[in-house]
Amino acid sequence: MNRLIVVVLFLISIKALAAMEAPEMTGKNGYVEPFKMFDNLYYVGDQWVSSYVVQTSSGLVLIDTLDFPYSKWIPANLKKLGLEQEPVSHILVTHGHSDHVGGAEYLQSMYGSEVILTEKGLELAIEQANKSRGNSQFLPPDVQSFAKDSSHIVVGDIEFKFYITPGHTEGDLSIDFMVKENGQSFRAFVVGGHGVNFEQPQLAKMFLASMARIKKLVTESPTVTVNLSNHPHKNHLFANRDRNTKASSPNAFVDEASIFQFIEQQEKQAMERMENDPAQYDLNPIH
Ligand SMILES: [Zn+2]
Repeated sequence: MNRLIVVVLFLISIKALAAMEAPEMTGKNGYVEPFKMFDNLYYVGDQWVSSYVVQTSSGLVLIDTLDFPYSKWIPANLKKLGLEQEPVSHILVTHGHSDHVGGAEYLQSMYGSEVILTEKGLELAIEQANKSRGNSQFLPPDVQSFAKDSSHIVVGDIEFKFYITPGHTEGDLSIDFMVKENGQSFRAFVVGGHGVNFEQPQLAKMFLASMARIKKLVTESPTVTVNLSNHPHKNHLFANRDRNTKASSPNAFVDEASIFQFIEQQEKQAMERMENDPAQYDLNPIH
Protein backbone atom coordinates (compact mmCIF):
# COMPACT_ATOMS: atom_id res chain seq x y z
CA MET A 1 0.00 0.00 0.00
CA ASN A 2 2.72 2.40 1.04
CA ARG A 3 4.62 1.45 -2.06
CA LEU A 4 1.61 2.29 -4.21
CA ILE A 5 1.32 5.73 -2.59
CA VAL A 6 5.01 6.37 -3.26
CA VAL A 7 4.61 5.40 -6.92
CA VAL A 8 1.51 7.61 -7.31
CA LEU A 9 3.24 10.57 -5.65
CA PHE A 10 6.26 10.04 -7.90
CA LEU A 11 4.07 10.09 -11.01
CA ILE A 12 2.25 13.21 -9.84
CA SER A 13 5.52 15.04 -9.19
CA ILE A 14 6.87 14.04 -12.63
CA LYS A 15 3.72 15.47 -14.21
CA ALA A 16 3.99 18.68 -12.20
CA LEU A 17 7.63 19.07 -13.20
CA ALA A 18 6.81 18.54 -16.87
CA ALA A 19 4.10 21.20 -16.65
CA MET A 20 6.64 23.64 -15.23
CA GLU A 21 9.19 23.06 -17.97
CA ALA A 22 9.54 25.40 -20.91
CA PRO A 23 8.48 23.97 -24.30
CA GLU A 24 11.44 22.52 -26.15
CA MET A 25 13.36 25.30 -27.91
CA THR A 26 13.03 23.98 -31.45
CA GLY A 27 12.02 25.55 -34.76
CA LYS A 28 9.19 23.04 -34.91
CA ASN A 29 7.78 24.62 -31.73
CA GLY A 30 8.25 28.11 -33.14
CA TYR A 31 11.48 28.91 -31.34
CA VAL A 32 13.74 31.61 -32.80
CA GLU A 33 17.30 32.32 -31.64
CA PRO A 34 17.27 35.79 -30.03
CA PHE A 35 19.18 38.49 -31.89
CA LYS A 36 20.41 42.04 -31.63
CA MET A 37 18.66 44.63 -33.80
CA PHE A 38 20.27 47.85 -32.52
CA ASP A 39 22.77 48.71 -29.77
CA ASN A 40 19.83 48.97 -27.32
CA LEU A 41 17.23 46.64 -28.90
CA TYR A 42 16.96 42.86 -29.12
CA TYR A 43 14.39 40.37 -30.41
CA VAL A 44 13.35 37.66 -27.94
CA GLY A 45 10.05 36.63 -29.56
CA ASP A 46 9.14 33.49 -31.47
CA GLN A 47 8.20 32.72 -35.07
CA TRP A 48 4.68 34.13 -34.79
CA VAL A 49 4.64 36.74 -32.05
CA SER A 50 7.16 39.49 -31.35
CA SER A 51 8.78 40.32 -28.05
CA TYR A 52 11.42 43.03 -27.89
CA VAL A 53 13.87 43.95 -25.15
CA VAL A 54 15.02 47.55 -24.85
CA GLN A 55 18.26 47.99 -22.91
CA THR A 56 18.21 51.28 -21.03
CA SER A 57 20.82 52.80 -18.72
CA SER A 58 18.75 51.55 -15.77
CA GLY A 59 17.66 48.08 -16.80
CA LEU A 60 15.61 46.28 -19.39
CA VAL A 61 12.15 47.08 -20.72
CA LEU A 62 10.30 44.17 -22.27
CA ILE A 63 7.63 44.79 -24.91
CA ASP A 64 5.08 41.92 -25.04
CA THR A 65 5.41 38.53 -23.43
CA LEU A 66 4.25 35.79 -25.88
CA ASP A 67 1.67 33.09 -25.28
CA PHE A 68 2.21 31.08 -22.12
CA PRO A 69 4.15 28.73 -21.77
CA TYR A 70 6.31 30.00 -24.68
CA SER A 71 6.97 33.05 -22.48
CA LYS A 72 9.35 30.79 -20.58
CA TRP A 73 11.73 31.13 -23.51
CA ILE A 74 12.23 34.82 -22.73
CA PRO A 75 14.47 34.38 -19.63
CA ALA A 76 16.48 31.76 -21.58
CA ASN A 77 16.81 34.22 -24.46
CA LEU A 78 17.98 37.02 -22.14
CA LYS A 79 20.67 34.63 -20.88
CA LYS A 80 21.76 33.76 -24.41
CA LEU A 81 22.10 37.49 -25.11
CA GLY A 82 24.17 38.00 -21.93
CA LEU A 83 21.48 40.27 -20.44
CA GLU A 84 20.43 38.01 -17.56
CA GLN A 85 22.13 40.15 -14.91
CA GLU A 86 20.15 43.27 -15.78
CA PRO A 87 16.88 43.99 -13.98
CA VAL A 88 13.71 43.86 -16.06
CA SER A 89 12.22 47.04 -14.64
CA HIS A 90 9.15 47.32 -16.91
CA ILE A 91 6.98 45.07 -19.03
CA LEU A 92 4.88 46.92 -21.63
CA VAL A 93 1.96 45.02 -23.15
CA THR A 94 0.45 46.15 -26.48
CA HIS A 95 -2.98 44.54 -25.90
CA GLY A 96 -4.84 41.98 -23.85
CA HIS A 97 -4.80 38.99 -26.23
CA SER A 98 -3.03 35.97 -24.75
CA ASP A 99 -0.23 35.95 -27.33
CA HIS A 100 0.97 39.34 -26.01
CA VAL A 101 -0.02 39.25 -22.33
CA GLY A 102 0.28 35.49 -21.63
CA GLY A 103 3.66 35.69 -19.89
CA ALA A 104 3.26 39.09 -18.19
CA GLU A 105 2.38 37.76 -14.74
CA TYR A 106 4.94 34.93 -14.97
CA LEU A 107 7.76 37.33 -15.88
CA GLN A 108 6.54 39.97 -13.42
CA SER A 109 6.72 37.39 -10.60
CA MET A 110 10.18 36.37 -11.72
CA TYR A 111 11.66 39.87 -12.10
CA GLY A 112 9.47 42.10 -9.90
CA SER A 113 8.75 44.30 -12.94
CA GLU A 114 6.13 47.00 -13.27
CA VAL A 115 3.60 45.95 -15.92
CA ILE A 116 2.07 48.72 -18.03
CA LEU A 117 -0.90 48.31 -20.35
CA THR A 118 -4.21 50.12 -20.90
CA GLU A 119 -7.22 49.70 -18.62
CA LYS A 120 -9.16 47.99 -21.46
CA GLY A 121 -6.07 45.89 -22.11
CA LEU A 122 -6.16 44.53 -18.56
CA GLU A 123 -9.92 43.83 -18.79
CA LEU A 124 -9.28 41.69 -21.88
CA ALA A 125 -6.23 40.07 -20.26
CA ILE A 126 -8.40 38.98 -17.31
CA GLU A 127 -11.02 37.52 -19.71
CA GLN A 128 -8.33 35.68 -21.66
CA ALA A 129 -6.65 34.40 -18.47
CA ASN A 130 -9.99 33.07 -17.21
CA LYS A 131 -10.43 31.15 -20.46
CA SER A 132 -6.87 29.73 -20.48
CA ARG A 133 -6.48 26.03 -19.70
CA GLY A 134 -3.90 23.30 -19.18
CA ASN A 135 -0.28 24.09 -20.02
CA SER A 136 -1.34 27.44 -21.51
CA GLN A 137 -3.07 28.57 -18.33
CA PHE A 138 -1.87 31.97 -17.17
CA LEU A 139 -2.80 34.66 -14.68
CA PRO A 140 -3.36 38.34 -15.48
CA PRO A 141 -0.54 40.65 -14.34
CA ASP A 142 -0.75 42.90 -11.31
CA VAL A 143 -1.09 46.42 -12.74
CA GLN A 144 -0.44 49.45 -10.53
CA SER A 145 -0.93 52.17 -13.12
CA PHE A 146 -2.51 52.10 -16.55
CA ALA A 147 -1.00 53.61 -19.66
CA LYS A 148 -2.86 56.81 -20.55
CA ASP A 149 -3.16 58.28 -24.02
CA SER A 150 -0.35 60.70 -24.97
CA SER A 151 1.54 59.93 -21.77
CA HIS A 152 5.14 58.82 -21.34
CA ILE A 153 7.53 57.15 -18.94
CA VAL A 154 11.27 57.60 -18.72
CA VAL A 155 13.42 54.58 -17.94
CA GLY A 156 17.10 55.46 -17.66
CA ASP A 157 18.11 57.15 -20.91
CA ILE A 158 14.99 56.16 -22.89
CA GLU A 159 11.59 57.86 -23.03
CA PHE A 160 8.65 55.68 -24.00
CA LYS A 161 5.62 57.55 -25.36
CA PHE A 162 2.22 55.88 -25.25
CA TYR A 163 -0.80 56.26 -27.52
CA ILE A 164 -4.07 54.40 -27.13
CA THR A 165 -4.98 53.33 -30.67
CA PRO A 166 -8.08 51.11 -30.44
CA GLY A 167 -9.40 48.99 -33.29
CA HIS A 168 -7.82 45.54 -33.13
CA THR A 169 -9.02 45.53 -29.51
CA GLU A 170 -10.45 48.39 -27.46
CA GLY A 171 -7.21 48.76 -25.52
CA ASP A 172 -4.42 48.72 -28.11
CA LEU A 173 -1.32 50.52 -26.84
CA SER A 174 1.13 51.94 -29.38
CA ILE A 175 4.67 52.65 -28.19
CA ASP A 176 7.10 55.25 -29.51
CA PHE A 177 10.80 55.42 -28.53
CA MET A 178 14.32 55.87 -29.85
CA VAL A 179 16.72 53.09 -30.73
CA LYS A 180 20.46 53.65 -31.06
CA GLU A 181 23.31 52.40 -33.16
CA ASN A 182 26.90 53.68 -33.28
CA GLY A 183 25.90 57.00 -31.75
CA GLN A 184 23.00 57.51 -34.17
CA SER A 185 19.36 57.50 -33.03
CA PHE A 186 16.34 56.24 -34.94
CA ARG A 187 12.68 56.62 -34.04
CA ALA A 188 10.91 53.29 -33.54
CA PHE A 189 7.17 52.68 -33.29
CA VAL A 190 5.16 49.64 -32.21
CA VAL A 191 1.57 49.71 -33.51
CA GLY A 192 -0.53 48.32 -30.64
CA GLY A 193 -2.64 45.96 -32.74
CA HIS A 194 -3.17 45.23 -36.39
CA GLY A 195 -6.01 43.60 -38.27
CA VAL A 196 -9.66 44.53 -37.73
CA ASN A 197 -11.24 42.17 -35.27
CA PHE A 198 -14.19 40.93 -37.33
CA GLU A 199 -15.91 39.45 -34.31
CA GLN A 200 -16.43 43.01 -33.08
CA PRO A 201 -17.46 45.08 -36.12
CA GLN A 202 -18.04 48.15 -33.94
CA LEU A 203 -14.25 48.40 -33.65
CA ALA A 204 -13.72 48.76 -37.41
CA LYS A 205 -14.29 52.52 -37.53
CA MET A 206 -12.05 52.96 -34.50
CA PHE A 207 -9.41 50.96 -36.31
CA LEU A 208 -9.45 53.26 -39.34
CA ALA A 209 -9.39 56.36 -37.11
CA SER A 210 -6.41 54.94 -35.20
CA MET A 211 -4.54 54.14 -38.41
CA ALA A 212 -5.11 57.71 -39.63
CA ARG A 213 -3.83 59.03 -36.29
CA ILE A 214 -0.79 56.76 -36.33
CA LYS A 215 0.04 57.90 -39.86
CA LYS A 216 0.20 61.49 -38.58
CA LEU A 217 2.16 60.57 -35.47
CA VAL A 218 4.85 58.63 -37.31
CA THR A 219 5.28 61.46 -39.83
CA GLU A 220 6.19 63.97 -37.11
CA SER A 221 9.87 64.78 -36.94
CA PRO A 222 11.98 62.72 -36.64
CA THR A 223 9.96 60.44 -38.90
CA VAL A 224 9.65 56.83 -37.75
CA THR A 225 12.12 54.65 -39.66
CA VAL A 226 11.98 51.53 -37.47
CA ASN A 227 8.69 49.65 -37.78
CA LEU A 228 8.41 47.33 -34.78
CA SER A 229 5.32 45.28 -35.41
CA ASN A 230 4.07 43.01 -32.63
CA HIS A 231 4.02 40.12 -35.12
CA PRO A 232 7.23 39.42 -37.08
CA HIS A 233 5.62 38.74 -40.46
CA LYS A 234 4.23 42.28 -40.52
CA ASN A 235 7.62 44.00 -40.60
CA HIS A 236 9.62 41.36 -42.52
CA LEU A 237 11.62 40.90 -39.34
CA PHE A 238 13.41 37.67 -40.21
CA ALA A 239 14.21 38.71 -43.79
CA ASN A 240 15.76 41.91 -42.39
CA ARG A 241 17.68 39.93 -39.76
CA ASP A 242 19.11 37.76 -42.56
CA ARG A 243 20.00 40.82 -44.64
CA ASN A 244 21.87 42.22 -41.63
CA THR A 245 24.01 39.13 -41.21
CA LYS A 246 25.08 39.28 -44.87
CA ALA A 247 25.93 42.97 -45.19
CA SER A 248 27.53 45.17 -42.55
CA SER A 249 25.58 48.34 -43.35
CA PRO A 250 23.11 49.92 -43.52
CA ASN A 251 20.99 48.32 -40.80
CA ALA A 252 18.10 46.60 -42.61
CA PHE A 253 15.72 47.42 -39.72
CA VAL A 254 15.97 51.09 -40.69
CA ASP A 255 13.47 51.59 -43.49
CA GLU A 256 11.71 54.87 -44.24
CA ALA A 257 8.87 53.23 -46.15
CA SER A 258 8.10 50.24 -43.92
CA ILE A 259 5.69 51.75 -41.39
CA PHE A 260 3.77 53.65 -44.09
CA GLN A 261 3.41 50.53 -46.24
CA PHE A 262 2.22 48.64 -43.19
CA ILE A 263 -0.43 51.24 -42.29
CA GLU A 264 -1.63 51.52 -45.88
CA GLN A 265 -1.93 47.75 -46.12
CA GLN A 266 -3.95 47.73 -42.88
CA GLU A 267 -6.27 50.50 -44.10
CA LYS A 268 -6.78 48.78 -47.45
CA GLN A 269 -7.58 45.41 -45.89
CA ALA A 270 -10.00 46.98 -43.42
CA MET A 271 -11.78 49.05 -46.11
CA GLU A 272 -12.14 46.08 -48.46
CA ARG A 273 -13.62 43.98 -45.72
CA MET A 274 -15.99 46.71 -44.62
CA GLU A 275 -17.13 47.56 -48.16
CA ASN A 276 -18.02 43.93 -48.73
CA ASP A 277 -20.46 44.09 -45.85
CA PRO A 278 -21.50 47.75 -45.35
CA ALA A 279 -24.46 47.01 -43.07
CA GLN A 280 -22.32 45.06 -40.65
CA TYR A 281 -19.84 47.92 -40.34
CA ASP A 282 -22.40 50.73 -40.25
CA LEU A 283 -20.95 52.50 -43.29
CA ASN A 284 -24.25 54.16 -44.18
CA PRO A 285 -23.51 57.93 -43.91
CA ILE A 286 -27.10 58.66 -42.69
CA HIS A 287 -26.24 57.16 -39.30
ZN1 LIG B 1 -4.39 40.48 -30.90
